[in-house]
Amino acid sequence: MAFFCTICEQESTRICVTCTKDTCDDHLCTLCKSCSDCCPHDVQLEQRPSVRAAIESANHDYSEVSTVLSNS
Ligand SMILES: [Zn+2]
Ligand SMILES: [Zn+2]
Ligand SMILES: [Zn+2]
Repeated sequence: MAFFCTICEQESTRICVTCTKDTCDDHLCTLCKSCSDCCPHDVQLEQRPSVRAAIESANHDYSEVSTVLSNS
């Protein structure tokens, strides 16, 4: 039996604890387990920690590559 996010309509396995609507991982706050409509936190999808971590690790890899190049 499949459930679909009420916000973006992609398949979901979770529900909002506040309104109990089906909500995908992208639209369920990890802090309060509520959907974007109910969540009191001002979380923007573009600013999710996973995205920031990916950007920071990419920058880290680049600086390591630069060090290797300048040493050789
Ligand atoms: Zn969604
Ligand atoms: Zn909700
Ligand atoms: Zn929240």
